[in-house]
Amino acid sequence: MGRLWRRELWRLAALLAVGLLIGWPFGAIGYGLATALALYLAYQLRQLHALQEWLTHHPHDEPPAASGLWGELFDRLYRYQKGQRLTQRRLRDTLRRIQESSEAMRDSVVMLDRHGDMEWWNSAAERMLGLQPAHDRGQHITNLLRDPRFVDYFHARDYREPLTLSSPIDEQMILQFQITLYGDDERLVMARDITRLHRLEQMRRDFVANVSHELRTPLTVLAGYLETYGDMADQLPPRLGRGIVQMQSQAERMQNLVNDLLLLSRLEIDQGGQDDARLDPASLLDTVRRDAEALSAGRQRLEVSIEDVRGLLGSEKEIHSAVSNLAFNAVRYAGDDSRIVLRWRPWQDGACLEVEDDGEGIDPLHIPRLTERFYRVDKGRSTATGGTGLGLAIVKHVLLRHDARLEIDSRLGEGATFRCVFPAHRLVGDRATADSRRAGAGES
Ligand code: ADP
Repeated sequence: MGRLWRRELWRLAALLAVGLLIGWPFGAIGYGLATALALYLAYQLRQLHALQEWLTHHPHDEPPAASGLWGELFDRLYRYQKGQRLTQRRLRDTLRRIQESSEAMRDSVVMLDRHGDMEWWNSAAERMLGLQPAHDRGQHITNLLRDPRFVDYFHARDYREPLTLSSPIDEQMILQFQITLYGDDERLVMARDITRLHRLEQMRRDFVANVSHELRTPLTVLAGYLETYGDMADQLPPRLGRGIVQMQSQAERMQNLVNDLLLLSRLEIDQGGQDDARLDPASLLDTVRRDAEALSAGRQRLEVSIEDVRGLLGSEKEIHSAVSNLAFNAVRYAGDDSRIVLRWRPWQDGACLEVEDDGEGIDPLHIPRLTERFYRVDKGRSTATGGTGLGLAIVKHVLLRHDARLEIDSRLGEGATFRCVFPAHRLVGDRATADSRRAGAGES
């Protein structure tokens, strides 16, 4: 028991003793004790009243003077309140500073609660998203940003990649949205104006597409004449004949380059516009095998392995071009006497078209950069093999348009596997492996 409590009990005991002593001579001990208790109660009630008055009317002032237990109580409450006020002031200052810095940002910032309702935003959000403080506070974000792509992005809760969309109040303004989850399932939506960047990117694409297109006709004329002269090479002086053959092969390289650049531009510009049809991977791989065999001219063994009976939804032309690029690369880089397998098989939740070779392989160091335009592991060698440096960039873009991705597994000296992985929604028919097909064939 604390010192103050003991004192308080002593005080009560003393009061009761005085009541007893006064009541005794008159033979009224009961009255004496009752009076003492009543006095004690009156004192407690007065202090309680003082406490209530202080807390209700002057909570910021010094507490009323009191001694003993009550004095201690007043003091503790006063100190606690002072501490709380200080913490509150600090929190308010921090919040104000955060709001001021968000306000000064050129990017939009919108804070959402755990239901997705908008709690606070900066003035850039009013300018870029058209939010109005009077109407929109407490509204769900998808009531304001109604584009289905944003609604899907918001609900999918996978915010690793940003989303690019036009502003809801200005079609010309291109915004990049990024959502961050924090605290108790609350979200922060940031939007950055990337109109200038977007325009520059568009100019770059248009420029490449236009230049490639313009180069096409003159190159066709040059290649046409060179072919005619090439046919007459034996009638020309040997030095001239050799030059013409060389010019012919360089013109062909330029034509391939221009065609690949045009294809890449088309894939980039016409986003998601491919016509999806049901493809039969077995016949697609068979066609690619025949083309690759022609390029290989017997230097490698090519095989097709079908381990899944499902079909694939996509653009035949584009997927054919992607797999051909992979197969031709295998022929060009795997080396003589290697074995190349073109495979269609279940992979994770979906399926993959795979090109595997047991050739020289690639140092894993290069793998992350292989799909960059004109990135080559060995520049001299790639040029000699007739590659344009755009093959894997084309594959990557084709796959992006089919919700698919490219996986590359390779080690130096241990061959290479290039896998086009398609998600389940791109597949048609029931899943079955080659084993069950073989089992089925065995039964019949
Ligand atoms: P390129 O026109 O040079 O072939 P790609 O984009 O098709 O351009 O390929 C990029 C690089 O990847 C090639 O230069 C080559 O070094 C490497 N590469 C691609 N496929 C293979 C493979 N099957 N084996 C070894 N290296 C490969």
